[in-house]
Amino acid sequence: MKRIYLDHNATTPVHPAVADELCRSIRETFGNAGTLYSYGKEARMMVHDARELVASLIGAKREEIIFTSGGTESDNMAVRGAAYGNISKGKHIITSVFEHHAVLETCKALEKEGFEVSYVPVDEHGVVRLDELQKAIRPDTVIISIMHANNEVGTIQPIAEIGRIARERKVIFHTDAVQAFGKVKINVDEMDIDLLSASAHKLYGPKGIGALYIRKGIKIKPIMTGGHQERKLRPGTLNAPGIVGFGIAAKMAAIEMEGEGEKIKKLRDRLWDGIQAKIPHILRNGHQTQSLVNTLNVSFEFVEGESLILSLDDQGICVASGSACTSDSLEPSHVLLAMGLSPENAHGSLRFSLGRDNTEEEIDFVIETLPKVVERMRSMSPLYREFLKKQKKI
Ligand code: PLP
Repeated sequence: MKRIYLDHNATTPVHPAVADELCRSIRETFGNAGTLYSYGKEARMMVHDARELVASLIGAKREEIIFTSGGTESDNMAVRGAAYGNISKGKHIITSVFEHHAVLETCKALEKEGFEVSYVPVDEHGVVRLDELQKAIRPDTVIISIMHANNEVGTIQPIAEIGRIARERKVIFHTDAVQAFGKVKINVDEMDIDLLSASAHKLYGPKGIGALYIRKGIKIKPIMTGGHQERKLRPGTLNAPGIVGFGIAAKMAAIEMEGEGEKIKKLRDRLWDGIQAKIPHILRNGHQTQSLVNTLNVSFEFVEGESLILSLDDQGICVASGSACTSDSLEPSHVLLAMGLSPENAHGSLRFSLGRDNTEEEIDFVIETLPKVVERMRSMSPLYREFLKKQKKI
């Protein structure tokens, strides 16, 4: 059976150009980048070039990029590192109710250590309430952490405005750009971003490698202790092949982002038009225009998202309900609840996230298959029967 992969916000297949360089690097540049002899020098040069490629995708300087193990570590390093590093100013942090768990759980852990955290609400489209954000800033606020694009619904935040507010109030601004990096244009100077998290596996790079952009002059306390690597902020032998792969992924994103974005948006819109025309009682979640072009989040009334996923998987269609990182939990998505959805609608949601290899034929297959699956599941739902009775349809 042919499989259709529509879960690119969970992870992406490796780009062929990345795979080539990654394999070459694993075979040939195995040296420890911290050593003085030729093997080390070769690995160091590859890392140098990759750092430049990652930095240039966001208008940063090479020396402002620290390589980590992924988005989760970058978020931890940013929020925790800035909080610990600026205690002399205060112990207050601002974030939103809408963030990824990598930021939310870090904030919760910091609360237990005596930090205070304000969680700013979002509107029904998932856009952070800027008035509430402004009100939350205090003289002892050390960091504002607001994600660039949401992983579940795709909503893009007004990052440049948040950056301007933070800069005016002299507060460090961190953005979790794990979903935006390589998908939308980012310029850390134009957007007044001080810290930015990215992860290679979301842009057709390898898993287990990420980056934190740290603006020159921003104080961060290391959260790990060890050797001198990465300016002592991230000690440990560098994952040179992973870094090389990340560099190529960033390079390919710079070349392909615009053209692919247009193609993917057309497919995403085709999917929504098809679903909307064929399936009643559905709800599109997220901002209609200020959103990642690859993401479509839909709630199907009277249906459980998890059962839909399994039935679609039987047909070869791979999608997610809520965040992949929480798919092992039966709690309704905190993102959808924050946008005001009922727990039922949150439970009945599916996230389709498209990528560079998807085709019109695949989308048409989904449009043909999904209505049948939803109809079959609704026919087994006592709630749906009750609803139809009330509508005098049976
Ligand atoms: N932040 C966001 C917005 C994400 O979507 C994810 C992963 O889904 C992460 C952070 C964590 O990234 P990683 O899987 O590289 O640790």
